Amino acid sequence: MTKISILPEFLINKIAAGEVIERPASVVRELLDNSIDAGAKNISVEVLYGGKKLIRVADDGVGMSREDASLCFERHATSKIKTEDDLFNISTLGFRGEALSSLTSVSKVTLITSTANSHTGTKIEIGLPTMPTGRQADKAGAGEKKEISDAPPLAGTIIEVRDLFYNTPARRKFFKSTSTELSHIIEVVMQKAISYPGISFSLKHNNNELINAVSAKDIRERFKQLYGEELFNEFLEINPIKQNISNGVKRERNGVKLYGFVSTGNFTRSTRSYQFVFVNRRPVKNPTVSHAVYSAYRDLIPKDRHPAFFLFLEIAPGKVDVNVHPAKREVRFETPSEIHKLVELAVQEALHPQQYKTAGDIPASMPAYEAAHTAENVSFGEQSVCETLESTFQSAGGLQTDFFSEKITPAVRRYFHIGESFVAESANNGLTIIDQHAAHERVLYEKFLRKTSIEAETLFLPIRTELSAREYNIVIKHSDFLKDLGLDVEDFGANNVIVRTMPKELCKADIKGLLIDIASGIIEEETTGIRGDTGKQGLLENIAARLACHKSVRGSEPLNNEELSQLAADLEKCEVPDKCPHGRPTRIFISLDDLNRMFKRK
Ligand code: ADP
Ligand code: MG
Repeated sequence: MTKISILPEFLINKIAAGEVIERPASVVRELLDNSIDAGAKNISVEVLYGGKKLIRVADDGVGMSREDASLCFERHATSKIKTEDDLFNISTLGFRGEALSSLTSVSKVTLITSTANSHTGTKIEIGLPTMPTGRQADKAGAGEKKEISDAPPLAGTIIEVRDLFYNTPARRKFFKSTSTELSHIIEVVMQKAISYPGISFSLKHNNNELINAVSAKDIRERFKQLYGEELFNEFLEINPIKQNISNGVKRERNGVKLYGFVSTGNFTRSTRSYQFVFVNRRPVKNPTVSHAVYSAYRDLIPKDRHPAFFLFLEIAPGKVDVNVHPAKREVRFETPSEIHKLVELAVQEALHPQQYKTAGDIPASMPAYEAAHTAENVSFGEQSVCETLESTFQSAGGLQTDFFSEKITPAVRRYFHIGESFVAESANNGLTIIDQHAAHERVLYEKFLRKTSIEAETLFLPIRTELSAREYNIVIKHSDFLKDLGLDVEDFGANNVIVRTMPKELCKADIKGLLIDIASGIIEEETTGIRGDTGKQGLLENIAARLACHKSVRGSEPLNNEELSQLAADLEKCEVPDKCPHGRPTRIFISLDDLNRMFKRK
């Protein structure tokens, strides 16, 4: 007997579905792609229970004839490519012909569609009542019941997907909470909406409207619709139209165009959650682009903070391979180094427009790329270590001389500042160097963990702030939890919240940034549960770490001796005094013995 057999069609489909459809949000993404490819001007998405029960996408695109409609659920059925050449020249979002067939193998699907001129539309219902077994399973598509009937001619397409993974319990188990699945769906809709500003998008969850973005005239308007005006003001624009009047840097290199938004150096995040790269409007993860962006921000933001960005690259379809990932989340560039240069320069220019204005002084013969780098070196070339130390000693009021000659009595704690982050104290027969920010983070973190020592300060004027639909939902849902941490957040409707109290230590923090970080922490916790299965405790640790981080980033005024003594004493009382919540050291002790060894006296 042979060991090898060819898998039956239904099983092949299920395997394919595993790659394409990971969770309800992947269904939404595939259906939106199809509606966009069909030239829709209005797309509405309705979901029930985070999409686990129902996902319904309706569009006013070209629709399908009855013949096409009955073919579209077959595996590898596509209208988007025909020849191998087409595969290397893809201008549509879909092309693999796998989404609809995958869907029918893991859910109950209803399709209603008609073209603009037809008198009757088509309805197709596909349900998989039972898993085929034995002989039946050998038949391709066995078990799949397809019912075709007439429908009103609505000029467009509606697809309903019910009970996702109802026949694959093992995969249902991976569903997260309704709010987590919903937040992934919101993210997908937001991503599509920002990349297609001209199309109207709406999203309803359990009959509540969460997103209603009417057709916008440009991406700027769409950004404001989705994220609000306040957040828009935290971003700088990379505008391809300006490229001809901008000195020095071209934002278009070899036919590759770049546009979008990058956050100012002040608006940084604790995770990479606000980073979006679109290639030909397809959201992708791409290390080349990310690396280029981080290179542009180097020296501008602390190492543990992240920039936010929405970058759109438009590339001739032949110069980018989109057929690299089953869910099309990755692409391969023909010339990655060119892309790197383009992105790095354009982001630098957005961040430092002044520098690029004066780039006109640079000899005209110098190529744009080098010219830009010369400009960069002038002002953010790295200082030599000696220079840095020298200026540090000077600003510390002559640390060199005072520090070693001074007789320090144990009762008086005197600190010396070294650069912006460090303070040093000579005590206990050695030298203690404290990283103020890390120390502060640890102290605050433990305060938040204990909850009881948090003082909620009532804001003189409650602050209203607008969030994205995704964050708004998460924050409102967890408002009780936040209240325990000193943050009284109230629902104000239409993605707005009112903040009435703040933890005392965070009173000066940027509230919107804080809420956004909290929301991404909750999503992270619910999605990955990276801090173990401790549930609420894991969530508390995650959020406490984020809150603590806010204070330490914002609190950049130098502390005086008294405040530093307090900080050192508070740190001493911590359970884990030597590490910040992210694992970096808070203090380092160099004993006299160590010094003797270092100076080879021992
Ligand atoms: P792909 O998008 O990769 O071609 P799909 O399985 O997603 O594969 O869809 C199969 C085909 O069904 C598409 O190529 C398209 O012709 C048709 N189709 C799917 N959704 C729609 C829609 N909303 N409007 C019009 N045609 C659609
Ligand atoms: Mg598709």
